[in-house]
Amino acid sequence: MLRVQNLEVVYDDVMLVLRGVSLQVPPGRIVALLGANGAGKTTLLRALSGLLGVHDGAITKGAVTLDEKPIHRLRPAAVVRRGVTQVMEGRRTFAELTVEENLRLGAHTRPKGRAEALERMYGLFPVLAQRRGSVAGYLSGGEQQMLAMGRALMSDPAYLLLDEPSLGLAPRLVEQVRDLIVQINRAGTGVLLVEQNATMALSIAEHGYVLETGKVVLDKPAAELLADDDIREFYLGRA
Ligand code: ATP
Repeated sequence: MLRVQNLEVVYDDVMLVLRGVSLQVPPGRIVALLGANGAGKTTLLRALSGLLGVHDGAITKGAVTLDEKPIHRLRPAAVVRRGVTQVMEGRRTFAELTVEENLRLGAHTRPKGRAEALERMYGLFPVLAQRRGSVAGYLSGGEQQMLAMGRALMSDPAYLLLDEPSLGLAPRLVEQVRDLIVQINRAGTGVLLVEQNATMALSIAEHGYVLETGKVVLDKPAAELLADDDIREFYLGRA
């Protein structure tokens, strides 16, 4: 179980951005994290993947645990080795490297099984197999999203953290990304899905949390959040 307990995060020593957030992602499940711009979603993912403190921001209270062991003081590479990997917002890939080189970089923490992992990724994302020799910078937005997901999966994570994977994608591609998340999850990976597209996220998640100015204000089964018109309009927009 991946668990966030009463987490408090401060930027610039004074700005309280997460104010006692608790949530959990059971193994093999999809959990959606929703909320308006600036609510603190990206900050929470950074805390989960060890990226706070690398850039800025500090955990001032609470904990992140994986199977009851704290991981919030670990460096990002150590978090990946424990089995928690994040796909960055903006699908950051190395533009001048090829698709295959990008994927191989995702496996740097795993000592063996890299060739098998690569073939698994090409099975999951056939479009990446076709473009394996192409420079990542020339891929379309949808293809880059797949490459970013594929690269993260190369470490064979128990939990995948996704930051707005549908952002800026055409509806057809949003559907494709959603189907891929389901497929990845069916293979056993737990997923924490941060999304502005609440309807998409809740349609595949089991549980949903809504974050508002650094606090969890709703914590319910996804189907309940999706079914409540008031909640949808007020908190989730009409996406
Ligand atoms: P978005 O959907 O726009 O990415 P979010 O819910 O992910 O929003 P965060 O990016 O976590 O929200 O930001 C939460 C708050 O923290 C915002 O007020 C933001 O301006 C502030 N913030 C984010 N990063 C930093 C930083 N590096 N230094 C100072 N303040 C920051």
